Amino acid sequence: MTEIDAILAKSHLSRADIIGLLSARESECDSLFRRSADIKKEWAGNTVYLRGLIEYSNYCSKNCLYCGIRSGNARYARYEMTDDEVLEAARYAWENRFASIVIQSGERSDERFAAKIEQLIRSIQAMARGELHITLSLGEQTQETYRRWLEAGAHRYLLRIEVSNPDLYRRLHPDEGGHSHRSRLDALKSLRKTGYQVGTGVMIGLPFQTIPDLADDLIFFRDIDVDMVGMGPYIEHQDTPLYQYRNEIASPQERLFLSLKMVAVLRILMKDINIAATTAMQAIDPLGREKALRAGANVIMPNLTPEKYRQDYLLYENKPCLDEEAETFKSRLEDRIAEAGGSIGYGEWGDSRHFHRRK
Ligand code: SAM
Ligand code: SF4
Repeated sequence: MTEIDAILAKSHLSRADIIGLLSARESECDSLFRRSADIKKEWAGNTVYLRGLIEYSNYCSKNCLYCGIRSGNARYARYEMTDDEVLEAARYAWENRFASIVIQSGERSDERFAAKIEQLIRSIQAMARGELHITLSLGEQTQETYRRWLEAGAHRYLLRIEVSNPDLYRRLHPDEGGHSHRSRLDALKSLRKTGYQVGTGVMIGLPFQTIPDLADDLIFFRDIDVDMVGMGPYIEHQDTPLYQYRNEIASPQERLFLSLKMVAVLRILMKDINIAATTAMQAIDPLGREKALRAGANVIMPNLTPEKYRQDYLLYENKPCLDEEAETFKSRLEDRIAEAGGSIGYGEWGDSRHFHRRK
């Protein structure tokens, strides 16, 4: 029996076991990926759920040291989609039976923004007769704002912790302007209390990050009993302060492989949650998301942002689908998901089973 098989035979994985799995070489990982695929099939099914991604605006009040749309980067023209553009993207998702959308944007906490999002959620729900599930990914907000948006018709919220280690978090964010690990944790608690299906996640392969850090990230997801996770490789961006460490991190392929192991181990640890196959995986490998589906992910987020804005929402370099038409994207996606052994859950909300089991 290999060391990996011995770990997989255990009913409870310790921190040391998780570190062992995350450290496994490619040649040792067959049984890990087989186990995570079996667990996914039994607990989450082989259906892949679609979330149409709308990158609403790249205005951001924050300055995270890794992110291309940080406030300190003057290279991008700042935009905000019009109401009509948002409704058109949501209509595309609804008419094509995606059943679910994600509205994502840079972080802003002004009243105009809160009111605009509230109104957009109401307009989308009216247009789609309440048939679209809405996920928000709009950063840290007050509990009152979270409540407003939930009451307007949002259902789920994605707020990545980015890294669960507070010391590492400090090194990746400026020491000013509300970049605080504590307040991010509080925001996650506040989202749970407000009644959202809560998602979080991390970046993988960051400068200064270690395998034990990543094991702690997985344990963090388990401890806070999260409903959904979106995590993927960190990808450098030349207009960010973190770019100076680009030669000190693992290769893109290694970061992708580590991300696939993170997905597989998480599926074993949290059998019935939703796990996204993220765009950053596709940025490294055109088949990166399909590999993530095989490793245990069950959600894909096709980009529905109007093409004219995509050049200005570059969180990292080589972000894919910059000029892809939604239609060609859809037919290619269907083929690829079928190749990965799944089928698309058209018209299905694909709520986290974990969320409903907890209730
Ligand atoms: N502004 C909101 C927030 O930060 O929660 C939501 C949008 S933000 C662009 C979404 C995610 O992009 C972040 O949580 C972060 O993990 C990811 N991201 C930013 N820069 C990245 C990079 N260079 N590589 C990979 N992911 C990145
Ligand atoms: Fe803004 Fe989010 Fe990027 Fe940080 S990760 S700079 S909050 S968009």
